[in-house]
Amino acid sequence: MPVSVFLIHVPATSSTSSSYSVLIDAGHRSHVKSLSSALSTHLRLHPEFPLKYVFLTHGHHEHTAALPTLLCEYPEIKVVIARDEYPFVVEGKKYCECNGDSHIFQFFKRLLLTESKVKLEKENVIVIESGEEENTIFENAVKVVRTNGHTPGSLSFLHIPSNSLICGDALRNMALLRSPSLSLHGKAFTVSVSDTRNTVKQISERQDVDYIMPAHDHTFGGVPIEKVRELANRL
Ligand SMILES: [Zn+2]
Repeated sequence: MPVSVFLIHVPATSSTSSSYSVLIDAGHRSHVKSLSSALSTHLRLHPEFPLKYVFLTHGHHEHTAALPTLLCEYPEIKVVIARDEYPFVVEGKKYCECNGDSHIFQFFKRLLLTESKVKLEKENVIVIESGEEENTIFENAVKVVRTNGHTPGSLSFLHIPSNSLICGDALRNMALLRSPSLSLHGKAFTVSVSDTRNTVKQISERQDVDYIMPAHDHTFGGVPIEKVRELANRL
C-alpha cells in the first residue's frame, strides 16, 4: 500500500513570528530520494515557508525512513514525537518488546517488518508530554491529537483550517476505487487493538474533524468523518 506524507504551510500569526513548513511523517525507504527531491523543489519555490519540523505519527519504519537524510539536508529541523514513542525512535527500543493485546501481534511481533531503522539524537527531538497533546497547537494551524493503540505513542495531527485529521496508522483506507473502505490497521502491526478501538471511537466523536487522512490510502483528498462514525458503530 502507498504511504503518504503531508506538507503543511504554517503562516505567521503575528509580526513577531515567521512562517514555516511542517512535514508529517518521513516515508518508506523506497521514497527517500523522491521525497528529498520533491521537498527541495517545493521549498525552493516557497522560500517564505522553510522546513522547521517533522511531526511523526509513530516510529514504524515506513514513516521514518527519510529522517537521517532530512536531518542532514536541513540540520535546523526538529522531529516532534510523543513521550511514549520516544524510546522507539531515540533509545533503540523495539516494538517487539511490547506486550500486545492480541494473539496475532504476540505471534508475529518478532517477525515485524515495521521496526524503525532510525535512531535519532535527542537534540534533534521535541517531545510532546502525555496529557499535553491537545494543548499543543502550532500557530492556529496544527493541533496535536493523542491516538495511541497502533503503537504506544501514536499521534495524529489536526490541520485546523481544513478540519482534516492526519491520522497515521490509527486507521487505513483499503479502497481501490472511490468509495472509502476504512478499517483498523492489521493486528500483526498493532500493539493494542483495544486502545486503537477506543481511539477510533474518540475520533468519531470529535466535532472539529470533517475528514481523516490515513497514511495508507489509495485515494486522495481524505475520508469523510461519517465513515469513521460508521466504523466506530461496528466496533
Ligand atoms: Zn504503523
